[in-house]
Amino acid sequence: MPDKFLCIHGHFYQPPREDPWMDMVFPEGSAAPARNWNERICRESYGPLAYARRLDGGGRILELFNCYEWMSFNFGPTLLTWMESHAPDAYARILEADRKSVERLGHGNALAQIYHHVIMPLATDLDRRAEVAWAVADFEARFRRKPEGMWLSEAAVDDRTLEILADAGIAYTILAPRQVEAVADVDGQWREAHEGDLDITRPYLVELSGGRSMAVFFYDGPLSQAVAFEGLLRDGERFWGRINSAGRPGLLSLATDGETYGHHFAFGEMALAYVLAQARACRDGWRVTNYGAYLAANPPRSKARLRQASSWSCVHGVERWRSDCGCTTGGHPGWGQHWRKPLRDGLNAVKAEMDAHFHSAGAGVFRDPEEALTDFGKVLAGLWKNGEFGQRHFLPGLDEAARDTGFKLLTMQKWALSSFASCAWFFD
Ligand SMILES: [Zn+2]
Repeated sequence: MPDKFLCIHGHFYQPPREDPWMDMVFPEGSAAPARNWNERICRESYGPLAYARRLDGGGRILELFNCYEWMSFNFGPTLLTWMESHAPDAYARILEADRKSVERLGHGNALAQIYHHVIMPLATDLDRRAEVAWAVADFEARFRRKPEGMWLSEAAVDDRTLEILADAGIAYTILAPRQVEAVADVDGQWREAHEGDLDITRPYLVELSGGRSMAVFFYDGPLSQAVAFEGLLRDGERFWGRINSAGRPGLLSLATDGETYGHHFAFGEMALAYVLAQARACRDGWRVTNYGAYLAANPPRSKARLRQASSWSCVHGVERWRSDCGCTTGGHPGWGQHWRKPLRDGLNAVKAEMDAHFHSAGAGVFRDPEEALTDFGKVLAGLWKNGEFGQRHFLPGLDEAARDTGFKLLTMQKWALSSFASCAWFFD
């Protein structure tokens, strides 16, 4: 029987909590006893996942298991920037995990992530290109390799977004099965596809304009939901049993919020470590893989068309981030979401003014303001020093004040992009 391949993906992300003037996270009382939510969630989830305890029958520690080494993951660049200085041990385990997965599988566990977690189909073309370029630069600086995959914020996708990913050298992304619209097998005949009857054991190819294309993986919806909402993390053996009963030849992939392990569910990292260790030991015929390795061994033979402007967490497409679509956490009965549209419209209006100013003032300092903006990610990632950036992008003969203006314009755009972090529209 052909092998069964398991890939559990974790999406690890926190919104940028830094104060824009001080560029530091201020105390957040609700996160007590931690000083702020980054620290709290790091203590409960990101750290424990790097050193998950595996116990023997007598409750003694068998192993401290680095879950990141045996799962697929993406971390938000703004979160990794914080972890690098505030949680250096866990940060080092994350980098080490990617390195070891490359040694083992030829492809790394880490995916890049849209820089500020903006909802891509709602962003301007330039903002989308900047978010992707900055994400690639950040990834290369940390993981010392080019990213093969990129996680889209809220899996929010349309074809234009995938074209921008393809232009940046990205090979694949991960989507919810209900984001598919139609598939065509080798015979080339298109047929409507639905979550329930979609074969998710293999990747699909999305054909894009200009001869570009993108591979997409669809994760197992019910099983991923069960990890978050059905208490599978209470018992590692039960979690394993559910995976095993969903198993068939080919790929089984789950997509989960990383904070599920340990933060939303205390000690959930132990259940995850148990499951990953079973797969590592090839129990029941399973093998651990990641998306990059699976894609290399199984190039897509079928094509997919996607629901345009769809996401993994709003059944109304991407309305959750711009309108009163009806999505709610349910935590506040009687509350409405009618504030979403004015908030989105307001920030869009401010951003449009900033873009106009960036282009007009930028024309006086940059050779090409748009290229300067997309390349600024290399400065933020530490790949380029200010001087190197200036040599490439500033007009010749600028005095110090003009160069200062240039960096202020870029910093303005950095914070403007932060304001579109999806989280502002997500909750009640
Ligand atoms: Zn919705």
